[in-house]
Amino acid sequence: MKNWIALEADINLIMTKHFTPGRAGKTVKFVEVHHNAANLSAQQIYNVWQTREASAHYQVDANGVISQHVWDRDTAWHATNLAANQESIGVEHANNTFAPGWTISDKTLEEGSHLVAAICVAFKLGRPAWLVNVFPHSYHYATACPGAIGGSQNAAYMRRAGEWYDAMMAGTTAPPAPPTSPGGTYVVQPGDSLYAIAKRAGLRDWHPLYDANRDAIGPNPDVIQPGTELVIPGGASSSPSGPSMQVGGQAKFYGTRDVKGTLLAKWTYGETFTVMQIDGSRVVIGRDGDVTAAVSASDLTAL
Ligand SMILES: [Zn+2]
Repeated sequence: MKNWIALEADINLIMTKHFTPGRAGKTVKFVEVHHNAANLSAQQIYNVWQTREASAHYQVDANGVISQHVWDRDTAWHATNLAANQESIGVEHANNTFAPGWTISDKTLEEGSHLVAAICVAFKLGRPAWLVNVFPHSYHYATACPGAIGGSQNAAYMRRAGEWYDAMMAGTTAPPAPPTSPGGTYVVQPGDSLYAIAKRAGLRDWHPLYDANRDAIGPNPDVIQPGTELVIPGGASSSPSGPSMQVGGQAKFYGTRDVKGTLLAKWTYGETFTVMQIDGSRVVIGRDGDVTAAVSASDLTAL
């Protein structure tokens, strides 16, 4: 999205047919969410709508790229219901798995839920709430659409939409607060992924999170069970269940800079070092007795 406040999409590919100009005097009252039942790009869904008598205002592809296909002021043909079309903004999402799961990717969930929040802000619809101002296509028509967005990923999607809404109302488009602070714990919710949790926790990527919770998660980082309690790595004192950082111990480094902000060599990222000195949140790491750098404890995961 180029601009969340102005609802300016990454790509504009505006339909010249299969929508109705204006809204017949109606105003936007809700967002209606859809899935592609396929994994389509902006151009591909635009092409589908050239022959099918259908359209939606926005498409979120599997990489999180958002395209606009019908202007918000016009009536898109997405809800299979005239009254619903006139009072809604339709948002399509690409699937990353197909029947029977019909899931969307983490990036689609992240950008789609952010878009829902931005629409709720722009049209003053209130905080995103399922069946209040956010509806599934299946509410207005007998269809499996929107797949997991209305099912296994619904809780995660709507929670994230709420977090983005709160962030936007607070006057920031920065990512919402992490679910918990470094060194704290987080209980996995339905629809969560390590990628999404790590992003919310402000971690660089999901690897430190997996490293800190390998025993609880098991061998496959792609499968995390709801209800599992995860330790969020980082912080000077380490987690109650994970190994503690100690001088002489080993730690993996997931930073790019030292404590002074100097860029470190690429090869240090993700590598294992010996902890040589701990001074609050400042940790000296090295190898074979040689100091490599003084880094922030939050960039280290004790092994
Ligand atoms: Zn639909």
